[in-house]
Amino acid sequence: MTFQDLNLHRNIVEVLKEENYIAPTPIQEQAIPIILEGHDLVGCAQTGTGKTAAFAIPILNYLHPIVGSKNKRKTLRTLILAPTRELAHQILDSFNTYGKYMTTKAMVIYGGVNQVPQVQQLKEGVDVLIATPGRLLDLHKQGHIDLNHLHHVVIDEADQMLDMGFINDVKKIIKLTPENRQTLLFSATMPVAIRELADAFLTKPKFVSV
Ligand code: AMP
Repeated sequence: MTFQDLNLHRNIVEVLKEENYIAPTPIQEQAIPIILEGHDLVGCAQTGTGKTAAFAIPILNYLHPIVGSKNKRKTLRTLILAPTRELAHQILDSFNTYGKYMTTKAMVIYGGVNQVPQVQQLKEGVDVLIATPGRLLDLHKQGHIDLNHLHHVVIDEADQMLDMGFINDVKKIIKLTPENRQTLLFSATMPVAIRELADAFLTKPKFVSV
């Protein structure tokens, strides 16, 4: 299979060519068509398998016709929850790379740093927000984040969220998002608490495992 076979916008296929991605990895081959079709998904995959592109590429493909031009007012359409600032930054890099020929605006927020620059950036408008759970709840409570127009919600490294004690915050956040969202959950392992999270918050999810 090639990326062309996945029916992606040529702007995205072009970047993948430039990045020397010859073919989709197994998680990408399985997950991308399911996400493009609009299904919820549980992906069992470790770091290094290409899981970030497995969700970033189909989300960008969805956003392509709706983000519009550079000056168009941005609406938050995609929320990605990550357990650590390092992972959040890696995900941001992926969105910036694969979305190189699009006007999508992606940004990260996380705790432990001054919130003022983050709030300023949010005010300028964003399409894709990558966040650690605590800071997201903080800024939402202060009225800086509108979750009402979300289409995609991604929970990345869900088992790490559990280990780090973030799972209740994750549940609180998902409850704040629209019911008709598309929810994608990725985890390297599938402990009972993660399966229960998927049962509670995903709708008829498809399962992929690599
Ligand atoms: P991840 O598992 O998301 O942390 O990705 C691991 C690394 O694989 C990243 O450096 C990606 O740039 C790279 N990568 C992802 N998909 C592909 C692909 N289809 N072909 C080659 N490299 C890839």
